[in-house]
Amino acid sequence: MAKCVRCQKRKGKRYCKVLGDYLCPLCCGQIREKEIHCPPDCPYLSKHKSYQQQRKIEKSSSNISPISPGEDILNDERLGWLVFNIEKSIIEYTQSHDSLTDKEVLLALNYAKEKVDKEKTLFSISEGMSGPRNELGETIYNQIENARFEKKIIVPGEHQRYNQEEKKKCLDRTLLSVKHTAQGNYEGQNYIRHLIQRFSKIKKDSSSSNILGTP
Ligand SMILES: [Zn+2]
Repeated sequence: MAKCVRCQKRKGKRYCKVLGDYLCPLCCGQIREKEIHCPPDCPYLSKHKSYQQQRKIEKSSSNISPISPGEDILNDERLGWLVFNIEKSIIEYTQSHDSLTDKEVLLALNYAKEKVDKEKTLFSISEGMSGPRNELGETIYNQIENARFEKKIIVPGEHQRYNQEEKKKCLDRTLLSVKHTAQGNYEGQNYIRHLIQRFSKIKKDSSSSNILGTP
């Protein structure tokens, strides 16, 4: 077997289309999408990507504490409203993307959470996002940024806008819902179907109050 074209030391086990030569797995990993622009159909690239996504999914809920019924944030009117807003942006997105999978929802929620994490605080400079732009993630992020909690009577000192901690809590709560409903089948649409069902029920129950913003 030929030697790796880059290090000239290890065996060139992977054919790189861009270089037109063989790379060893180590060099492939080092230059992948950094030094070279990998073609989307490269098997080593897609393998790497799905591995990265899987890791993100596993990581995403490992640090979320399970819900005890009495302490579920959905019982809180204010936080429940923000979770509803997150779900609403997912529902609206599925209307133009009907092949959306539960995995993509999870990744989008993670993306929004990472973005909330990096929100500018008074004394810190916001860092850039580590991964590529996620369209649904941006949609969810904008939705929670613009969400306002409106009560008939505003208690003094109570803010209509949500703070960073509340946003993260609500994204975590939605992540848990997806994980729970997807039942391990993240390539499927268990969660999305469940959500659509729930929303069409809300729509029916409140046809006059216009809760979904549709006529
Ligand atoms: Zn090498």
